[in-house]
Amino acid sequence: MSRHRRFRDGFRWENVDLLEYKPQGTHFRAVMRQVLFDGARGPGAELRYFEIAPGGHSTLERHRHAHAVLVLRGRGRALAGSRITTLEPFDLLEIGPGEWHQFRADDDACLGFLCLVDRERDRPRRPDKDDLVRLRADPAIADFIRV
Ligand code: MN
Repeated sequence: MSRHRRFRDGFRWENVDLLEYKPQGTHFRAVMRQVLFDGARGPGAELRYFEIAPGGHSTLERHRHAHAVLVLRGRGRALAGSRITTLEPFDLLEIGPGEWHQFRADDDACLGFLCLVDRERDRPRRPDKDDLVRLRADPAIADFIRV
């Protein structure tokens, strides 16, 4: 059976719940999530829309699964591996397996993006003390990351 969910004001899709990014924690700020496709009927992927409010950020994390990201709204930056890139609508960002990543919205703009992931995937890991020492060896990364 097909499904059509119309796009609505406020960057919402019809009959799609607006969810907290993660249940709890202080390692992220001002992030909301909508699961657009859960992949239950195939393909074996989930498509989510995340929106980070101005000044907010996602968790600094890594995992074995990859992310394919398409920016839809706003402006921000991302750490992906050892690079920090600026992001604007319709930019594509691929995060490879095992790469550290974190998204930040600019202070005066939200950052909204689609993120495609495997439906079956490993849990994200946050950096330990040694990881942070290694990450902060690069001054630009030290300045960028929020933990
Ligand atoms: Mn991730």
